[in-house]
Amino acid sequence: MPSPAGWREVPCVECGAFVAGIDFGERCPPCHRRRERKAALIARRAALLATLLATAWVWWRLPTSPMGRWYAVMAIPITYLLVRTIAVRIAMEVLP
Ligand SMILES: [Zn+2]
Repeated sequence: MPSPAGWREVPCVECGAFVAGIDFGERCPPCHRRRERKAALIARRAALLATLLATAWVWWRLPTSPMGRWYAVMAIPITYLLVRTIAVRIAMEVLP
């Protein structure tokens, strides 16, 4: 939500710098980008861990049918994408 017309600059909730175009309780663009990068880093690590676990599970319990093997192989990149997407959302909500 943009600042009301009477407000010229509003302090960033994180760094305290006065910035035009943000509302009270919001972050300035540099702080927002820094937070997004941190969330992306956490999400990448969580997705890699989940992908390693999924790969190990597929490796040890490889299905016998050819179609089951295809599904198991397709599950590995899908796990990475899903976990990364979900972890970014969670990290953006949880990060201070
Ligand atoms: Zn800031």
